[in-house]
Amino acid sequence: MPNWKVVITDCDHGSINEEKEEFAPIGAELILAQVRDEEGLIRVSRDAHGLMNQYAFLTRGILEKLQKCEVIARYGVGVDSIDLKAATAFGIIVANVPDYCVEEVADQAVSMMLALIRKTVFFDQKVKSNEWDFRQGRPIHRIKGKTFGLIGSGRIGLEVAKRVSAFGARVMAFDPYLQKAPEEVPLVDFDTVLRESDLISIHCPLNESTHHLIGEKEFERMKKKPLVINTSRGLIIDEKALIQALSQGQISGAGLDVLEKEPPDPENPVLKMENVVLSPHIGFYSEGSISELKRRTAKNVSDVLLGKWPDSVVNREVRGKTRASVAD
Ligand code: NAD
Repeated sequence: MPNWKVVITDCDHGSINEEKEEFAPIGAELILAQVRDEEGLIRVSRDAHGLMNQYAFLTRGILEKLQKCEVIARYGVGVDSIDLKAATAFGIIVANVPDYCVEEVADQAVSMMLALIRKTVFFDQKVKSNEWDFRQGRPIHRIKGKTFGLIGSGRIGLEVAKRVSAFGARVMAFDPYLQKAPEEVPLVDFDTVLRESDLISIHCPLNESTHHLIGEKEFERMKKKPLVINTSRGLIIDEKALIQALSQGQISGAGLDVLEKEPPDPENPVLKMENVVLSPHIGFYSEGSISELKRRTAKNVSDVLLGKWPDSVVNREVRGKTRASVAD
Protein backbone atom coordinates (compact mmCIF):
# COMPACT_ATOMS: atom_id res chain seq x y z
CA MET A 1 0.00 0.00 0.00
CA PRO A 2 1.25 3.55 -0.63
CA ASN A 3 2.28 5.68 2.36
CA TRP A 4 -0.93 7.64 2.64
CA LYS A 5 -1.24 10.58 4.98
CA VAL A 6 -4.66 11.63 6.23
CA VAL A 7 -5.21 14.79 8.30
CA ILE A 8 -8.13 15.64 10.54
CA THR A 9 -7.96 19.44 10.36
CA ASP A 10 -10.24 19.91 13.38
CA CYS A 11 -13.07 18.19 15.20
CA ASP A 12 -14.94 18.61 18.46
CA HIS A 13 -15.34 14.96 19.40
CA GLY A 14 -13.19 13.56 22.16
CA SER A 15 -11.72 10.41 20.67
CA ILE A 16 -10.75 9.43 17.13
CA ASN A 17 -10.93 5.69 17.74
CA GLU A 18 -13.40 5.06 14.91
CA GLU A 19 -11.17 6.91 12.45
CA LYS A 20 -8.10 4.97 13.62
CA GLU A 21 -9.96 1.69 13.14
CA GLU A 22 -10.94 2.68 9.60
CA PHE A 23 -7.39 3.58 8.54
CA ALA A 24 -5.47 0.81 10.34
CA PRO A 25 -6.09 -1.88 7.66
CA ILE A 26 -4.72 0.34 4.90
CA GLY A 27 -1.78 1.56 6.97
CA ALA A 28 -2.51 5.26 6.44
CA GLU A 29 -0.82 7.72 8.77
CA LEU A 30 -3.57 9.63 10.63
CA ILE A 31 -2.87 13.07 12.11
CA LEU A 32 -5.23 14.97 14.38
CA ALA A 33 -4.15 18.59 13.81
CA GLN A 34 -6.83 20.69 15.58
CA VAL A 35 -5.93 23.82 13.62
CA ARG A 36 -8.20 26.35 11.98
CA ASP A 37 -5.93 29.17 10.82
CA GLU A 38 -4.80 29.35 7.21
CA GLU A 39 -1.09 29.09 7.85
CA GLY A 40 -1.50 26.16 10.23
CA LEU A 41 -3.86 24.36 7.85
CA ILE A 42 -1.42 24.64 4.94
CA ARG A 43 1.45 23.47 7.13
CA VAL A 44 -0.29 20.29 8.35
CA SER A 45 -2.10 19.41 5.11
CA ARG A 46 0.41 20.32 2.40
CA ASP A 47 1.40 16.69 1.72
CA ALA A 48 -1.86 15.00 2.83
CA HIS A 49 -3.70 12.62 0.49
CA GLY A 50 -6.99 13.07 2.31
CA LEU A 51 -8.53 15.54 4.77
CA MET A 52 -11.34 15.28 7.28
CA ASN A 53 -12.78 18.55 8.40
CA GLN A 54 -15.37 19.96 10.78
CA TYR A 55 -15.32 23.75 11.21
CA ALA A 56 -12.02 24.96 9.70
CA PHE A 57 -12.56 27.00 6.53
CA LEU A 58 -10.87 25.38 3.56
CA THR A 59 -10.51 28.29 1.18
CA ARG A 60 -9.17 28.40 -2.39
CA GLY A 61 -5.93 29.85 -0.98
CA ILE A 62 -5.48 26.72 1.15
CA LEU A 63 -6.71 24.18 -1.39
CA GLU A 64 -4.33 25.37 -4.11
CA LYS A 65 -1.40 24.49 -1.86
CA LEU A 66 -2.55 20.89 -1.31
CA GLN A 67 -0.88 19.25 -4.27
CA LYS A 68 -1.58 15.64 -3.22
CA CYS A 69 -5.05 15.95 -1.74
CA GLU A 70 -7.58 13.64 -3.45
CA VAL A 71 -10.52 13.95 -1.07
CA ILE A 72 -11.98 16.15 1.66
CA ALA A 73 -14.60 14.52 3.85
CA ARG A 74 -16.74 16.78 6.01
CA TYR A 75 -17.95 15.53 9.38
CA GLY A 76 -21.65 16.19 8.87
CA VAL A 77 -24.12 17.34 6.25
CA GLY A 78 -23.27 20.99 5.47
CA VAL A 79 -20.17 21.79 3.39
CA ASP A 80 -20.20 25.58 3.54
CA SER A 81 -16.76 25.45 5.23
CA ILE A 82 -15.24 24.16 1.97
CA ASP A 83 -14.76 26.16 -1.25
CA LEU A 84 -16.49 23.64 -3.52
CA LYS A 85 -15.71 25.42 -6.78
CA ALA A 86 -12.01 25.49 -5.95
CA ALA A 87 -12.04 21.85 -4.81
CA THR A 88 -13.65 20.83 -8.11
CA ALA A 89 -11.20 22.93 -10.12
CA PHE A 90 -8.28 21.17 -8.40
CA GLY A 91 -9.85 17.73 -8.91
CA ILE A 92 -10.52 17.14 -5.19
CA ILE A 93 -13.57 15.05 -4.33
CA VAL A 94 -15.69 16.52 -1.51
CA ALA A 95 -17.83 14.06 0.44
CA ASN A 96 -20.28 14.36 3.33
CA VAL A 97 -22.57 12.18 5.47
CA PRO A 98 -26.10 13.47 4.90
CA ASP A 99 -28.03 10.90 6.92
CA TYR A 100 -26.13 10.00 10.07
CA CYS A 101 -28.70 11.47 12.47
CA VAL A 102 -32.08 11.00 10.79
CA GLU A 103 -33.53 8.92 13.65
CA GLU A 104 -32.14 11.28 16.30
CA VAL A 105 -33.74 14.40 14.77
CA ALA A 106 -37.05 12.57 14.30
CA ASP A 107 -36.91 11.43 17.95
CA GLN A 108 -36.12 15.00 19.03
CA ALA A 109 -39.12 16.37 17.12
CA VAL A 110 -41.42 13.72 18.58
CA SER A 111 -40.07 14.22 22.11
CA MET A 112 -40.88 17.94 21.80
CA MET A 113 -44.35 17.13 20.49
CA LEU A 114 -45.06 14.84 23.43
CA ALA A 115 -43.58 17.26 25.97
CA LEU A 116 -45.88 20.00 24.67
CA ILE A 117 -49.01 17.88 24.28
CA ARG A 118 -48.65 16.17 27.68
CA LYS A 119 -47.23 19.38 29.27
CA THR A 120 -44.31 17.40 30.66
CA VAL A 121 -42.02 20.33 31.45
CA PHE A 122 -44.87 22.35 32.99
CA PHE A 123 -45.92 19.52 35.33
CA ASP A 124 -42.34 18.63 36.19
CA GLN A 125 -41.82 22.18 37.46
CA LYS A 126 -45.13 22.18 39.36
CA VAL A 127 -44.51 18.87 41.12
CA LYS A 128 -40.98 19.93 42.04
CA SER A 129 -42.46 23.04 43.69
CA ASN A 130 -44.80 20.80 45.70
CA GLU A 131 -47.89 21.47 43.58
CA TRP A 132 -49.76 18.25 42.85
CA ASP A 133 -52.81 19.11 40.77
CA PHE A 134 -53.54 17.88 37.26
CA ARG A 135 -56.12 20.64 36.76
CA GLN A 136 -53.37 23.26 36.52
CA GLY A 137 -52.44 21.82 33.13
CA ARG A 138 -55.90 21.86 31.56
CA PRO A 139 -56.65 21.41 28.73
CA ILE A 140 -54.67 18.43 27.50
CA HIS A 141 -55.92 16.98 24.22
CA ARG A 142 -55.90 13.40 23.01
CA ILE A 143 -53.32 12.68 20.30
CA LYS A 144 -55.35 9.98 18.58
CA GLY A 145 -57.28 11.46 15.68
CA LYS A 146 -55.39 14.76 15.60
CA THR A 147 -53.92 16.06 12.33
CA PHE A 148 -50.15 16.50 12.13
CA GLY A 149 -48.82 18.49 9.17
CA LEU A 150 -45.20 18.20 8.06
CA ILE A 151 -43.36 20.78 6.01
CA GLY A 152 -40.81 18.69 4.15
CA SER A 153 -41.15 14.97 3.78
CA GLY A 154 -37.60 13.80 3.15
CA ARG A 155 -35.54 11.49 5.32
CA ILE A 156 -36.38 13.08 8.69
CA GLY A 157 -39.98 14.02 7.80
CA LEU A 158 -40.72 10.40 6.88
CA GLU A 159 -39.29 9.10 10.15
CA VAL A 160 -41.46 11.59 12.05
CA ALA A 161 -44.49 10.46 10.03
CA LYS A 162 -43.86 6.81 10.98
CA ARG A 163 -43.54 7.68 14.64
CA VAL A 164 -46.62 9.89 14.97
CA SER A 165 -48.75 7.49 12.93
CA ALA A 166 -48.13 4.97 15.69
CA PHE A 167 -49.89 7.35 18.10
CA GLY A 168 -53.02 7.29 15.94
CA ALA A 169 -52.53 10.76 14.47
CA ARG A 170 -53.43 11.57 10.85
CA VAL A 171 -50.28 12.73 9.08
CA MET A 172 -49.97 14.80 5.91
CA ALA A 173 -47.10 16.73 4.37
CA PHE A 174 -46.31 19.66 2.11
CA ASP A 175 -43.29 18.97 -0.07
CA PRO A 176 -43.27 20.66 -3.48
CA TYR A 177 -40.22 18.77 -4.73
CA LEU A 178 -41.44 15.21 -4.32
CA GLN A 179 -42.87 13.75 -7.52
CA LYS A 180 -44.65 10.95 -5.75
CA ALA A 181 -46.31 10.85 -2.33
CA PRO A 182 -44.45 8.51 0.03
CA GLU A 183 -46.57 5.57 1.24
CA GLU A 184 -46.53 6.79 4.83
CA VAL A 185 -47.74 10.31 4.21
CA PRO A 186 -50.12 11.93 1.70
CA LEU A 187 -48.92 15.16 0.10
CA VAL A 188 -51.12 18.27 0.35
CA ASP A 189 -50.62 21.94 -0.47
CA PHE A 190 -49.01 24.46 1.88
CA ASP A 191 -52.31 26.13 2.76
CA THR A 192 -53.89 22.79 3.80
CA VAL A 193 -51.03 22.14 6.24
CA LEU A 194 -51.41 25.63 7.72
CA ARG A 195 -55.22 25.48 7.89
CA GLU A 196 -55.91 21.89 8.97
CA SER A 197 -53.04 20.94 11.26
CA ASP A 198 -53.27 20.59 15.04
CA LEU A 199 -49.49 20.33 15.00
CA ILE A 200 -47.00 21.52 12.38
CA SER A 201 -43.46 20.14 12.25
CA ILE A 202 -40.78 21.61 10.00
CA HIS A 203 -38.40 19.30 8.11
CA CYS A 204 -37.33 21.21 5.00
CA PRO A 205 -33.84 22.66 4.43
CA LEU A 206 -33.01 26.33 4.91
CA ASN A 207 -32.45 28.06 1.59
CA GLU A 208 -33.53 31.27 -0.14
CA SER A 209 -37.07 30.03 -0.67
CA THR A 210 -37.56 28.69 2.87
CA HIS A 211 -36.03 31.68 4.70
CA HIS A 212 -38.92 32.95 6.91
CA LEU A 213 -41.27 30.50 5.19
CA ILE A 214 -43.41 30.76 8.31
CA GLY A 215 -44.15 34.39 9.18
CA GLU A 216 -46.99 36.65 10.24
CA LYS A 217 -49.27 35.77 7.28
CA GLU A 218 -48.72 32.04 7.72
CA PHE A 219 -49.50 32.18 11.47
CA GLU A 220 -52.75 33.99 10.59
CA ARG A 221 -53.71 31.08 8.32
CA MET A 222 -53.24 28.51 11.14
CA LYS A 223 -56.90 28.15 12.03
CA LYS A 224 -56.56 25.36 14.61
CA LYS A 225 -54.06 27.13 16.90
CA PRO A 226 -51.51 24.37 16.31
CA LEU A 227 -48.34 23.50 18.14
CA VAL A 228 -45.33 24.35 15.96
CA ILE A 229 -42.15 22.26 16.10
CA ASN A 230 -38.89 23.30 14.47
CA THR A 231 -35.92 20.94 14.48
CA SER A 232 -34.71 22.09 11.07
CA ARG A 233 -33.15 25.58 10.99
CA GLY A 234 -34.11 28.65 13.04
CA LEU A 235 -34.33 31.03 10.09
CA ILE A 236 -37.18 29.06 8.48
CA ILE A 237 -39.47 30.72 11.04
CA ASP A 238 -39.65 34.50 11.42
CA GLU A 239 -38.98 34.52 15.18
CA LYS A 240 -40.53 37.94 15.76
CA ALA A 241 -43.75 36.72 14.16
CA LEU A 242 -43.53 33.48 16.15
CA ILE A 243 -43.25 35.37 19.44
CA GLN A 244 -46.25 37.48 18.46
CA ALA A 245 -48.27 34.38 17.45
CA LEU A 246 -47.41 32.73 20.78
CA SER A 247 -48.31 35.77 22.85
CA GLN A 248 -51.57 36.38 20.95
CA GLY A 249 -52.63 32.72 21.15
CA GLN A 250 -52.60 32.20 17.37
CA ILE A 251 -50.64 29.03 18.09
CA SER A 252 -50.79 27.01 21.32
CA GLY A 253 -47.09 26.40 21.78
CA ALA A 254 -43.76 25.76 20.14
CA GLY A 255 -40.95 23.22 20.38
CA LEU A 256 -37.69 24.68 19.13
CA ASP A 257 -34.39 22.84 18.79
CA VAL A 258 -33.12 25.65 16.55
CA LEU A 259 -33.36 29.43 16.78
CA GLU A 260 -32.62 32.36 14.50
CA LYS A 261 -29.60 33.15 16.68
CA GLU A 262 -27.81 30.35 18.51
CA PRO A 263 -27.24 30.67 21.39
CA PRO A 264 -30.11 33.16 21.83
CA ASP A 265 -29.74 36.60 23.41
CA PRO A 266 -30.58 36.35 27.13
CA GLU A 267 -33.51 38.75 26.60
CA ASN A 268 -35.11 36.65 23.83
CA PRO A 269 -38.79 36.35 24.94
CA VAL A 270 -38.99 32.64 24.00
CA LEU A 271 -36.74 31.90 26.98
CA LYS A 272 -39.52 32.96 29.36
CA MET A 273 -42.57 31.50 27.63
CA GLU A 274 -44.33 28.67 29.45
CA ASN A 275 -45.77 27.21 26.24
CA VAL A 276 -42.35 26.90 24.59
CA VAL A 277 -40.03 23.91 24.95
CA LEU A 278 -36.41 24.48 23.94
CA SER A 279 -33.24 22.50 23.34
CA PRO A 280 -29.79 23.73 22.26
CA HIS A 281 -29.66 22.35 18.68
CA ILE A 282 -29.16 18.78 19.85
CA GLY A 283 -31.32 17.02 17.25
CA PHE A 284 -28.28 15.47 15.55
CA TYR A 285 -26.75 14.11 18.69
CA SER A 286 -26.58 10.68 20.24
CA GLU A 287 -23.49 8.63 21.03
CA GLY A 288 -24.55 6.29 18.21
CA SER A 289 -24.99 9.02 15.60
CA ILE A 290 -21.60 10.59 16.36
CA SER A 291 -19.86 7.23 16.23
CA GLU A 292 -21.53 6.52 12.86
CA LEU A 293 -20.54 9.98 11.61
CA LYS A 294 -16.89 9.44 12.49
CA ARG A 295 -16.77 5.99 10.92
CA ARG A 296 -18.49 7.05 7.70
CA THR A 297 -16.43 10.26 7.32
CA ALA A 298 -13.25 8.20 7.59
CA LYS A 299 -14.65 5.65 5.13
CA ASN A 300 -15.33 8.43 2.61
CA VAL A 301 -11.58 9.14 2.66
CA SER A 302 -10.39 5.52 2.63
CA ASP A 303 -12.78 4.68 -0.23
CA VAL A 304 -11.20 7.33 -2.44
CA LEU A 305 -7.64 6.28 -1.52
CA LEU A 306 -8.58 2.72 -2.46
CA GLY A 307 -9.95 3.86 -5.82
CA LYS A 308 -13.69 3.86 -5.03
CA TRP A 309 -16.22 6.67 -5.11
CA PRO A 310 -17.43 7.54 -1.60
CA ASP A 311 -21.09 7.03 -0.64
CA SER A 312 -22.01 10.70 -0.86
CA VAL A 313 -20.16 13.03 -3.24
CA VAL A 314 -21.06 16.71 -2.89
CA ASN A 315 -19.27 18.13 -5.96
CA ARG A 316 -20.49 15.64 -8.57
CA GLU A 317 -19.07 17.87 -11.34
CA VAL A 318 -15.62 16.64 -10.27
CA ARG A 319 -16.29 13.40 -12.16
CA GLY A 320 -13.95 13.15 -15.12
CA LYS A 321 -11.36 15.53 -13.68
CA THR A 322 -10.52 14.04 -10.30
CA ARG A 323 -6.95 13.66 -9.11
CA ALA A 324 -7.81 10.37 -7.44
CA SER A 325 -7.54 7.11 -9.31
CA VAL A 326 -11.26 6.34 -9.05
CA ALA A 327 -13.01 4.89 -12.09
CA ASP A 328 -15.32 7.36 -13.82
P1 NAD B 1 -33.96 15.74 3.11
O1 NAD B 1 -33.21 16.41 2.02
O2 NAD B 1 -34.00 14.25 3.14
O3 NAD B 1 -35.47 16.27 3.14
C1 NAD B 1 -35.83 17.59 3.02
C2 NAD B 1 -37.15 17.65 2.28
O4 NAD B 1 -37.60 19.01 2.28
C3 NAD B 1 -37.04 17.20 0.82
O5 NAD B 1 -37.97 16.16 0.55
C4 NAD B 1 -37.36 18.46 0.03
O6 NAD B 1 -38.08 18.19 -1.17
C5 NAD B 1 -38.22 19.23 1.02
N1 NAD B 1 -38.32 20.66 0.74
C6 NAD B 1 -37.41 21.47 0.14
N2 NAD B 1 -37.90 22.72 0.06
C7 NAD B 1 -39.13 22.70 0.61
C8 NAD B 1 -40.14 23.68 0.81
N3 NAD B 1 -39.97 24.93 0.39
N4 NAD B 1 -41.27 23.32 1.42
C9 NAD B 1 -41.47 22.03 1.83
N5 NAD B 1 -40.56 21.04 1.65
C10 NAD B 1 -39.41 21.38 1.05
O7 NAD B 1 -33.35 16.32 4.46
P2 NAD B 1 -33.47 15.69 5.92
O8 NAD B 1 -32.32 14.77 6.15
O9 NAD B 1 -34.86 15.20 6.13
O10 NAD B 1 -33.18 16.99 6.82
C11 NAD B 1 -34.12 18.07 6.88
C12 NAD B 1 -33.50 19.23 7.60
O11 NAD B 1 -33.27 18.89 8.96
C13 NAD B 1 -32.10 19.62 7.11
O12 NAD B 1 -32.16 20.45 5.97
C14 NAD B 1 -31.53 20.34 8.30
O13 NAD B 1 -31.82 21.72 8.20
C15 NAD B 1 -32.30 19.77 9.48
N6 NAD B 1 -31.42 19.03 10.40
C16 NAD B 1 -31.38 19.45 11.70
C17 NAD B 1 -30.58 18.79 12.61
C18 NAD B 1 -30.54 19.18 14.06
O14 NAD B 1 -29.57 18.89 14.74
N7 NAD B 1 -31.58 19.83 14.56
C19 NAD B 1 -29.75 17.72 12.18
C20 NAD B 1 -29.82 17.33 10.85
C21 NAD B 1 -30.66 17.98 9.97
